[in-house]
Amino acid sequence: MAGGDGERRRRHSSGAMVPLALLIGEEARMEKMERPRIRYGCAAQSKKGEDYFLIRTDCCRVLGDPSSSFSVFAVLDGHNGNAAAIYTRDNLLNHVMGAIPHGLGREEWLQALPRALVAGFVKTDKEFQRKGQTSGTTVTFVIIDGWTITVASVGDSRCILDAQGGVISALTVDHRLEENVEERERVTASGGEVGRLSIVGGAEIGPLRCWPGGLCLSRSIGDMDVGEFIVPVPYVKQIKLLKAGGRLIIASDGIWDALTSDMAANSCRGLPAELAARQVVKEALRTRGLKDDTTCIVVDITQTDQSSEPPPSTPKKVNRLKSFIFRRKPKDSVNKLAKKLSAVGVVEELFEEGSAMLAERLGNDSSAEKTSNVFTCAICQAILVPSKGVSVHAGSIFSTNSKPWEGPFLCDDCRNKKDAMEGKRPSGVKVL
Ligand SMILES: [Zn+2]
Repeated sequence: MAGGDGERRRRHSSGAMVPLALLIGEEARMEKMERPRIRYGCAAQSKKGEDYFLIRTDCCRVLGDPSSSFSVFAVLDGHNGNAAAIYTRDNLLNHVMGAIPHGLGREEWLQALPRALVAGFVKTDKEFQRKGQTSGTTVTFVIIDGWTITVASVGDSRCILDAQGGVISALTVDHRLEENVEERERVTASGGEVGRLSIVGGAEIGPLRCWPGGLCLSRSIGDMDVGEFIVPVPYVKQIKLLKAGGRLIIASDGIWDALTSDMAANSCRGLPAELAARQVVKEALRTRGLKDDTTCIVVDITQTDQSSEPPPSTPKKVNRLKSFIFRRKPKDSVNKLAKKLSAVGVVEELFEEGSAMLAERLGNDSSAEKTSNVFTCAICQAILVPSKGVSVHAGSIFSTNSKPWEGPFLCDDCRNKKDAMEGKRPSGVKVL
C-alpha cells in the first residue's frame, strides 16, 4: 500500500501525528466523493409492445453493504414475440453476477465483469432456449460503478456517451448484417446464408437478412428458430469517466432509425434526465412517426458536490471529433473515435472486445483447479466432475498458445452450444 501511504503523507505534510480514526474517516469521505451522482429518466412509446427496460439503482457488490452499490440500466428490444425480452430482463443480471467469483475487491470485481457478462449472456440464451419458446431480443446492458461504466450489448439497441464538453461517442457496436461486414463474414463462415428478401419477379428488397429466419441482426438472445450462428456473445466496452462526468443515452432502434447519435444528444442538452428522455423520444417521433417500439433511458453521471444544474446547454466549442460520428458505423471507426476520446482526456479506456468466439472471450484460467477440488462450467456455473469438463480451448484454432487441459472448462451442454455457435455442427443437432 505504498501509494496509499504516499497519499496520506502528502495530505498531512506538516509532520504531525494523525490519529488513525481521522485517517479512516478521511478515506471514507474520499470514497464518498469518488462516487458520482446518478440521475436518470426513461421514456417509451409502444407500437408492438416488444420493447422492455430494466433500471436498478440498488444493486450491491457485497450483499447488504450499501457502500458497494452499483446501478444497472438496460434496454431490450424483442422480436417475433416478447418472451425472450421478458426472460432476459428478469434473469440476465443474476446470471452475470453468478459468474463473478465471490470475495473480490472493487478493482478485481470490475476486471472480472467483462468475462462475467459474456458468461451471463450465453447462459441466459441457453436457459431461454431450453424453454422451447420462439422470439429473440437485443440487449444493451449498462453497469455503472463509481465513475466506471461497463456496457455489454447484442443487437442494435445503442448506448452513446455525451461527455462533458460535448464529445459524443458510441459505447456499443451495431450487430446488423447490413452495415457490419465483419459480422456478415462470421455468419456466412458459420453456415448462415445472408441475403435480401426476394419478392415476386425476383427483385430483392429491404436490408440484408440471415436465412433461415430472415433476421437482420447478427447477434441476439433467443432466436432458436433462426440458427445458432446468431450468437448471444456481447460486445463489451469498459471506460472510466474522468471527473467531469457525462450523459448516457441508451435506446432501441426506434430512436436510432430516426436520429443520429449527434441528433439525439443535441436534442436534449440542458434538460434534466427525466425530461431529456422524453425529449429524445419526442424528437424521434417528430422525425419519423411511430414506426416501431421506441424506448430511451438517459443517465446523467455527475460530481456530487456540483450544484444540481444540468450540463451546459451548448458545448464549450464545436469539437472536431464530431465529424467522426456516423450512424451505424463499422467497428473500426468506433475504435478510432474511442482512442481519440482517450487522447483528449475525456475518458480512460479500460477494456474493449467484440469477438464472437468464446475461447477468446473466456481467456485462460487455471485458478479453478488451484482454489478447490470443485470446478464449474465457465458459462452455466454447473459443478463439473473433473473427468467431465472440456477446456474451452480444446480444438480451437484461436488459442494455439494455450493448453487444451487448462481452464476455463465447459460442461457438455455448453460445449455443444459453443460448437453450434461456431458452425462446427448443424444447428439443433445435439452431440450426446
Ligand atoms: Zn455449462
